Amino acid sequence: MPFYDLKCKTCGEEFNIMAKMSDKDQNLIKCVKCGSDDLETLFKNINIVQSKKNSSSDCPNIHKCGGCCGH
Ligand SMILES: [Zn+2]
Repeated sequence: MPFYDLKCKTCGEEFNIMAKMSDKDQNLIKCVKCGSDDLETLFKNINIVQSKKNSSSDCPNIHKCGGCCGH
């Protein structure tokens, strides 16, 4: 299940909760503090996995040269 960072629009509480996507879609997630379901989703902690490699790891001889041979 994914984690959601949510902010309660009623009391301003920000919290992180693990919930099913269907629970979120149906607004079944409640504020941990006041119980309101009027929540705003924050995306501050979502880390987008970068497929980009850094240049040193592209070197086929990295185990020999440590990535400093210019490849
Ligand atoms: Zn609240």
